[in-house]
Amino acid sequence: MPVGVLAMQGAFREHRLALERCGAAVREVRTRGDLEGLDALVIPGGESTAISLLLRRGELFDALRERIASGLATYGTCAGVILLAKEVLGNGLKTLGLMDLAVRRNAYGRQVDSFEVSLTIPLLGPEPFRAVFIRAPRIERVGSGVEVLAMYDGRPVLVRQGNCLVSCFHPELTADLRLHRYFLENVLQ
Ligand code: GLN
Repeated sequence: MPVGVLAMQGAFREHRLALERCGAAVREVRTRGDLEGLDALVIPGGESTAISLLLRRGELFDALRERIASGLATYGTCAGVILLAKEVLGNGLKTLGLMDLAVRRNAYGRQVDSFEVSLTIPLLGPEPFRAVFIRAPRIERVGSGVEVLAMYDGRPVLVRQGNCLVSCFHPELTADLRLHRYFLENVLQ
């Protein structure tokens, strides 16, 4: 069964390539019908305001929320973190609200709008992961059901709550496929 990549706006092509390199069949998701028969879904980085608006313009917003709430394995990166979070601090953005997270958009400071760090992600093994942050959201609070999988600068940057995995950084912009593989092998069941 295919893995969907939400293709409203943002870095969906890069996720498509990464998933295909992992051997997955990929379908770009633009309509409600595209959700049918999916095994898993990636919500890419981009502009969360634009993605939220485009989702609500069509019929996708509610359908997507229902599918994810009923267990569709989902991986959100960057804007995808914002769209899945219950709370966006200081911002009235309408999100899917499915993960017990409070996030702040663009919170890593102006002078470091974009940066790369070498992250230790214990579940991926000892080799550090090159994490690319682009105007990334900061996770300010996680609920008790949320598992923190990696931290940077004292904050969670990779977390999982049941069928939802999110990272504040962009693994699809590097050649390292370990996180996409982790998603396909462990979150998707
Ligand atoms: N700054 C974007 C937002 O607030 C997220 C950036 C990204 O996805 N790379 O939606």
